[in-house]
Amino acid sequence: MKNLPKDLKENLTKNFPIDILKIIKVEQSTDGSIKYLFMLKDGTTVESVLLLMKEKQKDEDGNITKSEKYTFCISSQVGCKVGCTFCLTAKGGFTRDLTAGEIVAQVMYLKKENNIPENKSVNIVYMGMGEPLDNYDNLIQGIKIIAQEDGLSISTRRQTISTSGISSKIEKLGKENLGVQLAISLHAVDDELRSELIPMNKAYNIQSIIDAVKKFPIDVRKKVMFEYLVIKDKNDDIKSADKLVKLLNGINSKVNLIYFNPYEGTPYQRPSRNNMIKFQDYLNGKGVLCTIRESKGLDISAACGQLKEKESNK
Ligand code: SAH
Ligand code: SF4
Repeated sequence: MKNLPKDLKENLTKNFPIDILKIIKVEQSTDGSIKYLFMLKDGTTVESVLLLMKEKQKDEDGNITKSEKYTFCISSQVGCKVGCTFCLTAKGGFTRDLTAGEIVAQVMYLKKENNIPENKSVNIVYMGMGEPLDNYDNLIQGIKIIAQEDGLSISTRRQTISTSGISSKIEKLGKENLGVQLAISLHAVDDELRSELIPMNKAYNIQSIIDAVKKFPIDVRKKVMFEYLVIKDKNDDIKSADKLVKLLNGINSKVNLIYFNPYEGTPYQRPSRNNMIKFQDYLNGKGVLCTIRESKGLDISAACGQLKEKESNK
């Protein structure tokens, strides 16, 4: 719009940016997942992933059909302060919080890039780079904009916050009654191992997280998700599974087992499939719903932080 006065143009550029993200790398996996590396205005980068899942549905005649279901994995920070020893994002340290606009823009870009119709509902998980609850205010503002009808109209019930367990912020979030879903990255059942994996556990130990979760308002039809990153010979034994059952007693929970995804230089190893299944069977046998997250997009370095790391090593 060359006909606008110069100061108005400057004002618009400064206060109403429309190109706050730039796609600098796209990797497509054979299973249909697509990973994007975005560059922000200040030259820093974050990742977002589109996960494609098949969902069984019944048509009007009761026949089972399969429809595509989209889940967007969205970043909340450039880097992360939490410093988990198994996580590549942690290795790069912390740069800055994302703004609410940058959080919303990731969702808009993923929809647009994949020609996802306006009315097609998608699920959002804040499981990309960063610790969402460490960027609390911007995250909440982003979630609200995404949920609003004149925003992106994606209900808060379709948005899941994954946290490494900042207990005080879980309580604060609960009090807001937003209707968002909660996922806890638990990963260990005793504080010694958990503190090795997630140093912040020294300040917010397992019991404090369980207490915070028990106070969290949950939709009666929904469950709190507990993510359990399984690492060979660290936490993949039945004794740990049994402790987990006891810890989750009284919580309407679902456990999601995640294979540790190895990368160069890590001392940790991927667990065997056999141990994963034994762990899962044990939990299910005790009445705790448990699924194994099949590593979507393993071939596109989909674990958190791995695409960014690859680019910066070039
Ligand atoms: N900071 C939040 C959300 C982002 S991390 C959290 O920790 O919950 C998103 C997920 O990626 C976490 O569940 C984490 O355990 C997982 N993750 C990190 N590094 C991984 C790796 N090397 N292999 C598999 N999962 C990994
Ligand atoms: Fe941060 Fe989550 Fe990675 Fe831990 S696992 S360093 S909290 S992004």
